[in-house]
Amino acid sequence: MRMSEPSIFTRILQGEIPSEILAETENAFAIRDIAPRAPVHLLVIPKSAQYRNVVELAAGDPELLAEMVGLASTLAAEQADGAFRLVFNTGADAGQTVFHVHAHVLAGSLDEAGLG
Ligand code: 5GP
Repeated sequence: MRMSEPSIFTRILQGEIPSEILAETENAFAIRDIAPRAPVHLLVIPKSAQYRNVVELAAGDPELLAEMVGLASTLAAEQADGAFRLVFNTGADAGQTVFHVHAHVLAGSLDEAGLG
């Protein structure tokens, strides 16, 4: 993908690719992962594609990172028992495939849930 092309998450936010928006805050939104690896597997994503990964996000806009954690917590309380695992794959060698920062929210019974 060229850098100038919108990310898959931007295309979902803009309605070009179908995916239910489960919830949103001022600067972030949440969808279900298309290939769930836990009973509840959501993605919490900034509306802006400005930051490629969580390291850039934490340095550039820590308040947005906190907003994403809050949205993850709210959804985990609504869709599971409130317990959740937050995963930011950072770098291709760690399994990152979409370079528009996003948090994987894994909840439910996590005994068998992978991180990849
Ligand atoms: P990463 O591998 O970058 O950490 O996570 C990207 C995630 O986006 C993957 O878990 C993948 O299943 C998910 N994903 C990729 N394309 C789509 C899509 O079109 N819709 C949804 N809902 N999730 C997607």
